[in-house]
Amino acid sequence: MQISEHFTLEELSFSEAAARLGLDNTPAPIVITNLGLVAAVMERVRTLLGDRPIVVHSGYRSPQVNKAVGGVATSAHCSGLACDFVCSAFGTPAEVALAIQGSDIEYDQLILEYGWVHLGLAQEGLLSRREALTKRSARTAYESGIRA
Ligand SMILES: [Zn+2]
Repeated sequence: MQISEHFTLEELSFSEAAARLGLDNTPAPIVITNLGLVAAVMERVRTLLGDRPIVVHSGYRSPQVNKAVGGVATSAHCSGLACDFVCSAFGTPAEVALAIQGSDIEYDQLILEYGWVHLGLAQEGLLSRREALTKRSARTAYESGIRA
């Protein structure tokens, strides 16, 4: 199901881990609403990046799936408010993250991860922190700022 011009509900709720481990990753209605907000922001990201295709690595993660992949319990992915992605036609994850940071696109957290970019939105009613972080590996702590 198309939830914005270029993003589908399926790609924003697909989980390779869920498929592999046989875990349920079906988004609840509130999650689908949130994924719609993410898709709208990702359309702005896509435009910012020169209308180049974006490959989504992970959007919604059910609590079981999030636990299985070692995600933080409070992860915005569990509410359908986050998207991990790359846009290799534009550049490296660092280049993508820097472009978003330099734009007026509203985000709660922008994280340069090791191999992809995480964009998270604030829960309804909360202000976006517009926090930018870098995580260099699964074992290292978050560093402040986008650090290529
Ligand atoms: Zn993420």
